[in-house]
This record gives sequence, structure tokens and C-alpha cells, in this order.
Amino acid sequence: MKTKKLIVLASILIFSGCSMKVAENKSGENRQDNKDLLMAVLYQQRAAEYDALAYQAFNAAKKALLDDMKVMGLTRRQCIVVDIDETLLDNSPYEAECILENISYPERWEEWINSASCEPVPGALEFLNFASENGYEIFYVTNRKEKFRKPTLENLKKAGFPNPVDNHLLMRTETSSKQARRDKISENYKISMLIGDNLNDFTDVFYKAPLQKRFALVDSLRNEVGQRFIILPNAMYGSWVDAIFEYQSGLSEMEMDSLMMNALEGF
Ligand SMILES: [Mg+2]
Repeated sequence: MKTKKLIVLASILIFSGCSMKVAENKSGENRQDNKDLLMAVLYQQRAAEYDALAYQAFNAAKKALLDDMKVMGLTRRQCIVVDIDETLLDNSPYEAECILENISYPERWEEWINSASCEPVPGALEFLNFASENGYEIFYVTNRKEKFRKPTLENLKKAGFPNPVDNHLLMRTETSSKQARRDKISENYKISMLIGDNLNDFTDVFYKAPLQKRFALVDSLRNEVGQRFIILPNAMYGSWVDAIFEYQSGLSEMEMDSLMMNALEGF
């Protein structure tokens, strides 16, 4: 009986703690996801290493493209498929604002995208213009929603990216998978290169793949990385986080904290 009472008391305490945490977050204080975001945003904005990694990615892309140009006998038109967010355009000011104001996505996201004021990722502009000048068509494949088409084109144009026109911009459809959009492009073009910050930007084998499988798949594709697949760093968000959360939506912060803590490997 005494044990039962203790269990009930413990349950009340745990439940109260949980409710308090949620209540605090709803009132805009002590938001846990922003605490997790701080180091990632600082890395993108204040680590010169981030810029160096981006330059490294686009230098590798240029080298791979020069190799691709040497290949003879290709009859189909060639293209590059490129993601937008955290690949060509830097959204870290939005993420920083979330921390500063204690808000989270999708709050103020629409306002940020409509401002069309994302700055280009280091090296992106030079590389895509080089590719375009050398005869490669550029297709922008993004999971931004269709309603953001106009400001997205405006932002790409303002930043100086090549060919920011309607039929070269494929936005999110009913699925976040980009495979159907890549297939559509492949009907008329040979995709020489794919560039992104998310493994889903390259091939659908990664789509909703469990965490361990993602590692095995990357191992199996190691020769493509830096060649046909060019990857940019993004510690702020992405499928890598979704995989830790086992692709579950609607998790409480306690559940997310627990999955993140369980994902850590100590020694
Ligand atoms: Mg992206």
C-alpha cells in the first residue's frame, strides 16, 4: 500500500514537472528547442570553419564538374539539381531570431521567406554561375511550399543565381520526398550532380531511413560524396534530427529530450 502511494506521488510530481515545462514554453520562456539550437546557429554564423566547409564543398563540386565535362559521348543535356535552404541560401538569421525572441518554427517563417533577404552560402554563387556558363542547366529542387515561389525566385535572382525562372524551380508537392521531382527532370536531362545539406537531396534511399541505416548507406555511397553528391553542413535542422526522433511527429519536449539523450554515445 505504501509503495502504491509512493508511485502515485511520484507520478503526480513527474506529471506536474512535465506540465510546468510545457506551460513555461507556451508562455515563451525556457524553450528547450532553442537551447539546443544555440550552438548550431553560432556555428553557422560565427565559425569561420563553416565558411571553409562550404568553400570546400563547392571547390570539390567544381573539380567534379571539370571531370564531368571531359566525359565524351553524352548525348542528353546535362544539369545540376540543387537544394536551396542551407545549400544556396542561409537561413541562420531566422533561426537566430527564434532564439532571440523565444519563438519557434513556423512562427515568423513566412515573414522571413517573404523578405527574400537570405544571403548566399559561401562559394555557392560562383560555382552555380560557373556551371551555368559551361552549359549545365540548373534545377532548384526545394521543400519550400508553393506559396513561397515568388519570394524564392526573387531571392535567388537578387542574390545573383543563374536562371531563377518558374520551370527551373520545383517546390514541395504532397510529399517531402524529392524523388518524383528528380525523376521528372531525368526525363529530359542527365543529372550530373546533386547538391544539398540533407541526404534526402541525393537519393530516396535515405527517405525516412532509420538512424543506423543512414550510416550504412553513406558508407556504401562513399565514392559518390564530393563527386556526384556535394553536401553542405547544417547542424540546425534536417533529417538527421528527424532520424533521432524516429520520424515521429507531435513528440513532447520531454520525449524529444529523452530520445536525444539516448542517442548520445559515451565511453
Ligand atoms: Mg536544405
